Amino acid sequence: MMKVKRTIKYDADRVQGFGKEIMGVTGCDQLTSCIQCGTCSGTCPLTIYMDFSPRQVMALVRADFKNEVLRSNTIWLCASCYSCTVECPRQIRITDIMYALKQRAIKDHVYPRNMPIPILAQEFAKMILSKGRITETLLVMRLFLRANWRAVLSSWRQGLGLIRTGRFVLRPERIERQAELAAMLATVNNGNGRNQP
Ligand code: SF4
Ligand code: SF4
Repeated sequence: MMKVKRTIKYDADRVQGFGKEIMGVTGCDQLTSCIQCGTCSGTCPLTIYMDFSPRQVMALVRADFKNEVLRSNTIWLCASCYSCTVECPRQIRITDIMYALKQRAIKDHVYPRNMPIPILAQEFAKMILSKGRITETLLVMRLFLRANWRAVLSSWRQGLGLIRTGRFVLRPERIERQAELAAMLATVNNGNGRNQP
């Protein structure tokens, strides 16, 4: 597990209602029955890289420690493999809770330092909404321009090489009948608000 500076937490650090809010998201209500057995952390292939283990995140959410959870790298490192969800003895949908936390962090513009993953998620969703599909090279460009534009400048040689060999697509790819996809996404969004970046 990553080393993080542990500090004593006080009641005043809690954001009352945060846990209730997350448990109010569709599929996240079972969190109340967590017994803190740690099976999720033991199952997760990425626990060693996380600052808080999945079990700790579940406890922090329930205890309303909003800032600690949203600023942790755990929610962004979660690879949505669903191992924890499958193994949880209380049928808690941990992966869905991680999604709910990511969405909350994006909404609040709260990200851990040096983690461009939220920017990637935003750009990914924008591209899907506007074109219906992803053009990887443009996605990477947008990511670096927003997260670390110096990296783009320092990688110009590789970029030129990729353009010369035809591996750097600059024309955005798009699907046909894009309006139908937009209508479907709008329906989902109106239903539960879960397709927004
Ligand atoms: S496996 Fe389920 S019950 Fe056990 S700590 Fe994780 S979320 Fe809680
Ligand atoms: S879904 Fe996320 S938290 Fe759960 S085991 Fe996979 S990577 Fe870990």
